Amino acid sequence: LRILLLGSGGREHALAWKLSQSPYVEKIFVCPGNGGTANLSKTMNLDHISAGDFAALIEFSVRHQIALVVPGPEQLLVDGVETHFRKVGIPVFGPNCLAARMEGSKAFSKDFMERHSIPTANFEVFASHQIEQAIAYVKSCNHKVVLKASGLAGGKGVLLPNSVGEAISGLQEIMVDSAFGSAGDLVVVEERLEGPELSVLAITDGYTIVPLPAAQDHKRIGEGDTGLNTGGMGAYSPAPVATPVVMEEIMSKALKPTIDGMRKEGFPFVGVLFTGFMLTASGPKVLEYNVRFGDPETEAILLLLSEDVDLSSVFMACVEHRLDSVTLTFKPGFAVSVILASQGYPGGYEKGKTIEIAPIQSPDVVVFHAGTTIAGDKLVTSGGRVIAVSAYSPTLQGALDAAYAGVEAVSFEGKTYRRDIAHSALSAASG
Ligand code: ATP
Repeated sequence: LRILLLGSGGREHALAWKLSQSPYVEKIFVCPGNGGTANLSKTMNLDHISAGDFAALIEFSVRHQIALVVPGPEQLLVDGVETHFRKVGIPVFGPNCLAARMEGSKAFSKDFMERHSIPTANFEVFASHQIEQAIAYVKSCNHKVVLKASGLAGGKGVLLPNSVGEAISGLQEIMVDSAFGSAGDLVVVEERLEGPELSVLAITDGYTIVPLPAAQDHKRIGEGDTGLNTGGMGAYSPAPVATPVVMEEIMSKALKPTIDGMRKEGFPFVGVLFTGFMLTASGPKVLEYNVRFGDPETEAILLLLSEDVDLSSVFMACVEHRLDSVTLTFKPGFAVSVILASQGYPGGYEKGKTIEIAPIQSPDVVVFHAGTTIAGDKLVTSGGRVIAVSAYSPTLQGALDAAYAGVEAVSFEGKTYRRDIAHSALSAASG
């Protein structure tokens, strides 16, 4: 099997790492890839083609007999990568552009949830010329609100105002000043919920749904969840708040109605559906859908797959709508991923810092690369999130100890990371 993997983050390195363990996988071309995917035994980076240049990728894929395309980032899915490859008979592990609207348009996904009675925050949608109506709605709410640019905004399009005044300024930023560009052409104003958050990634062929162990990520740059939002500074899985009862409710009230509803409405979902939940006092509620693997959740969760799970066979079963024919099993225990970022991220930061990685003895610690590249004979930083150090252990404390030992093995100028990944789960477990 020859695979084309699209993207350049830690998520893609983790996918390449797991896929390359399959005896059926002969070669993985990663476009554009990073310093980590440049060095795996079966991978080759395609940095001369842009991941958004579908014509060039199809020409390459036909010539090299690619059997499966695995896109990482959402933009490619929203832009219709699946349809382009389907036209030449190459399957894509990911939804088509109609199904990708579940992430590409929050207005669309909220309406979908309403149609299918999927628990979510109460909401209204406003077009940018409806600022007066949006302000009147905010004033009429007897609860705090959240403002969301409907379109893709790189994880930055959500505002959490603390007063009606702040909410009105937020609406002006999105609707008048176009702070998020055309992503803010529609704005979702929704009820602010409270509770722990949970990420549930589920693999599906449009019929069968297999949830992966639930994860929690850490969005803020600072310890104790302070400072600016980032792409994610770490994750762990399974999250102890995801009890069997909670997971059962999530499956029956959210995941199943979502996948069944999409199929019945004519845009069946194939790939990984990432559903963000808030576990409120009145049960789990959907905050958002993502139509692809999460980053950094993937760098943790893939370490939990049993050794005998062949990820390429799972992906092929999905694109052939026979996921019920494969068994996905997970190791007992915990996986943790700690992100090492460049100093200054998520604001401005310098690139090109030399990275040294000392040998790590434990087979349960894996150093995934994100913003790294090879310059001459050196590995250097090339992005805000540089490395994801992931570790598996039978206990959460063991996984944390192993991951932070791995963090010590990586050095580059300005290395920035949070020391409190998963600490709330640890204190909940001990308290
Ligand atoms: P992501 O980077 O996860 O893709 P996004 O920009 O698509 O983010 P959401 O996940 O919808 O947006 O929201 C981002 C964050 O805002 C959530 O993780 C959550 O912390 C907070 N949030 C979103 N909706 C609500 C809500 N209704 N009540 C409280 N907090 C919320």
